[in-house]
Amino acid sequence: MENKTMTSKDFMELEHHHGAHNYHPLPVVLCRGEGVYVWDVEGKKYFDFLSAYSAVNQGHSHPKILNAMIEQAKTLALTSRAFYNDQLGPAEKYITEFFNYQKVLLMNSGAEANETAIKLARKWGYEVKGIPSNEAVIVGVEGNFHGRTTTIISASTDPTSTTNFGPFMPGFHIIPYNDEAALEEALQNPNVCGFWLEPIQGEAGVYMPEAGYLKKAETLCKKHNVLLMMDEVQTGIARTGKMLASDHEDVRPDLLILGKAISGGFYPVSAVLADDEVMLTIKPGEHGSTFGGNPMACAVAVAALEVIKEEGLMENAYKMGEIFRTRMAKFVETTDLVTLVRGKGLLNAIVINDDEESSTAWDICVKLRDNGLLAKPTHGNIIRFAPPLVITEEELHACCDIIEQTIRDFDA
Ligand code: PLP
Repeated sequence: MENKTMTSKDFMELEHHHGAHNYHPLPVVLCRGEGVYVWDVEGKKYFDFLSAYSAVNQGHSHPKILNAMIEQAKTLALTSRAFYNDQLGPAEKYITEFFNYQKVLLMNSGAEANETAIKLARKWGYEVKGIPSNEAVIVGVEGNFHGRTTTIISASTDPTSTTNFGPFMPGFHIIPYNDEAALEEALQNPNVCGFWLEPIQGEAGVYMPEAGYLKKAETLCKKHNVLLMMDEVQTGIARTGKMLASDHEDVRPDLLILGKAISGGFYPVSAVLADDEVMLTIKPGEHGSTFGGNPMACAVAVAALEVIKEEGLMENAYKMGEIFRTRMAKFVETTDLVTLVRGKGLLNAIVINDDEESSTAWDICVKLRDNGLLAKPTHGNIIRFAPPLVITEEELHACCDIIEQTIRDFDA
């Protein structure tokens, strides 16, 4: 086969010449993954500290999920929702019991799940809350990241997401994140149907609201009869050391939005969970997707969630996260190059002491790659560290050694 003789450089050139330039990948070409490790086409082994943006929480190529996928692919891959199939009902039962909601609606990408939540919030707003036609407002927050569709970017405050992609969808009111007073004021508008946010802003740089903010948001939403729409696409499924990041404050969103790790990275699966009052506002024909809830997605999602429970990944993420931040916090005191470490469970970031426009964080990531660890800057000077949740304490310490040594060398 041609690609047996091809080098990393050849693969990168192929992408550059034939693919859209909508990403700026770190220069490494991967061809294999297992657990916390990935390998490049030259055979070099790395720790994966991105986990495909937290889609691979269960570790690369998890044998149980792989087997579920193969068996289902051999049997029945896709029926569309024109017919019933023998995987969807059992998967819906499993997922709703797992997260304690009355109903689930399965889609494919995280963006689609967010789109679904927007439609549900509006429909509920008109048909249950009684908002006048076409007047519904969704309150969102600055620094959000919910995906790339034209509706979703209409709520974005990031110029990279929005520049020259207008005109934008009306009906969003954007307020500062982590600002209870701004929320209270925004909810005075009786046409607000939903408050839409991430419990930790992953793409913005693992930016965490103050303790108590999510609980307060839940209370205010209840008070003003507004749906709390929680985007846990990146934070959900054990990443932060609880099953959901909302669980850290005992918050139960009205619309729970999931993606990424619900498939362990094998297949695009996303989901919105809600109770009947909200979910049953959408009637046959009003929303859907050819691939959403297909048999393979269902088999993969159930196996992926079972792995989280069976292997205690939530508990491991919690424990490893504490170890990681304790070590990094000590290290931060010894260098001027890193100003702080923050995060929950195994969703963490360090902030580099340089301005947002500088390439320091990128240059550090290139050196980390040379030293066998893959991570990526989020916004300018922030590096996110999010390994698969199967990482052991010994592996984590080895990774901390690499991170500390790389930054020390860089500093020198
Ligand atoms: N929501 C959040 C919080 C995300 O982090 C992401 C992706 O990074 C998305 C939504 C979009 O998911 P997808 O890329 O699967 O559309």
